[in-house]
Amino acid sequence: MKMKLVVTRITILLCGFLLFQISKSRTFQFFGGLTARVNTKQKVVALTFDDAPSPYVNKVLAILKEKQIKATLYEIGKAIEQYPEEARSIVEEGMEVGNHSYSHERMVLKSLSFINTEIQNTNRLIKSSGYQGEITFRPPNGKKLFGLPWYLLQHNIKTIMWDIEPDTYVTGNSDTIVKYTLSHVQPGSIVLLHPFCDKEFVADREALPKIIEGLLSKGYRFVTISELLKY
Ligand SMILES: [Zn+2]
Repeated sequence: MKMKLVVTRITILLCGFLLFQISKSRTFQFFGGLTARVNTKQKVVALTFDDAPSPYVNKVLAILKEKQIKATLYEIGKAIEQYPEEARSIVEEGMEVGNHSYSHERMVLKSLSFINTEIQNTNRLIKSSGYQGEITFRPPNGKKLFGLPWYLLQHNIKTIMWDIEPDTYVTGNSDTIVKYTLSHVQPGSIVLLHPFCDKEFVADREALPKIIEGLLSKGYRFVTISELLKY
């Protein structure tokens, strides 16, 4: 009897661990598939920045404008309401805009109606900032399990992850962020940075011009997510 209980507990723990690993996988989800990188031999790369807009929008847009780069910015609905001017500037500068939920809550074990409200409210806000292109989705904290992938598949919305995330491996130092990015990037890579986030991500803002310079000198061309998906 006792043995049976132990086995059941271990099985539950293992299943929980497995589902947790799947929920944060960059390359697998249960429904509809996702994109973490595009398989191509062409030297193209997509820069993606999460958690836009914020007070750092002008600073980041100035860097992109100077280098004549178009990036893809994943916006949080609540932040668009807080920084509507910044959201409009992003569209005016010709950036691609994606949906990063309304509240930035982890979309794991949430109801379909919660997911629907989060995504549709944010799509509406993105459109009201003037954006007219296709809107892809990036899960907050990269987390998804059953409901979110199912919803996205039903609504024909693409899930976009990333294959290069220097913040996970090196933090707080712009030189190591640049070095990590340049040594790991491949043709078709999707780079995730957080230049719109607060103080602890100051290194991402400092690294950005150097990452762009470094990739250009390696012969890379910058594309948006919707352009990358055509390769
Ligand atoms: Zn985020």
